[in-house]
Amino acid sequence: MSYPSLTITFLGTGTSAGVPMIACECPVCTSPDKKDNRLRSSIMVQSEKTTLVVDSGPDFRYQMLRAGVKHLDAIIYTHAHKDHVAGLDDVRAFNFFSQQPMNVYASDMTQEVIIREFPYAFYESKYPGVPDIQLNTIALEPFMAGDIPVTPILVWHLKMPVLGFRFGRFTYITDANRIDDSEKEKIKGSEVMVLNALRKEKHISHFSLEESVAVAKELKIPQSYFTHISHQLGKHADVDAELPDGINLAYDGLVIKV
Ligand SMILES: [Zn+2]
Ligand SMILES: [Zn+2]
Repeated sequence: MSYPSLTITFLGTGTSAGVPMIACECPVCTSPDKKDNRLRSSIMVQSEKTTLVVDSGPDFRYQMLRAGVKHLDAIIYTHAHKDHVAGLDDVRAFNFFSQQPMNVYASDMTQEVIIREFPYAFYESKYPGVPDIQLNTIALEPFMAGDIPVTPILVWHLKMPVLGFRFGRFTYITDANRIDDSEKEKIKGSEVMVLNALRKEKHISHFSLEESVAVAKELKIPQSYFTHISHQLGKHADVDAELPDGINLAYDGLVIKV
């Protein structure tokens, strides 16, 4: 199968609190290494024709400015936790320049929360200047976002269903601590996989570092990157150096082509 060539930009690689965490003076939060500064998790996926982001957390506005994004075709949501949706209001700038609604792809469950948390964007008679959002319902069937093929992958975040996404040769999964065997089949064959790895200690709703390494090995992915990282994981340089070949920590600003 032929897929469009994609450029992936890591806009944020931190857990819900970000790194540094407010008021924290631990060695990671005070590290001078830029790779230890992590905004909330999100990626940008670009083909020649289409630019989309996965999730728009509280840092969305700054992530768009930092990456110099001038045009955005779509936002695809993994789930409706605040660290993944809080920045949606800032699509207003894209609405202003494109004079088009922002295409949002989300499950029914995620849409319910979006409508509850941003009700003013969905009123019959809207206040001028509120976000203009076109909701598109996704389930587990593959769909196209512009010219980018997207296959949703169901993963579990404790008891909450979350969507991971396969974009051709690339798979992105955040906020998971369990993946059913049937869904693992959808990931196999990916050249690059992103998976969440919160910290070294076990966690109730996120894979630990060890658990994510095990998934990457089990699925025989040539290159994996870990994201949604807590300050508790340790410094980027120390942890990255300990990882097996073909597995690295992601960091904000990392760009890969696949
Ligand atoms: Zn999260
Ligand atoms: Zn979450």
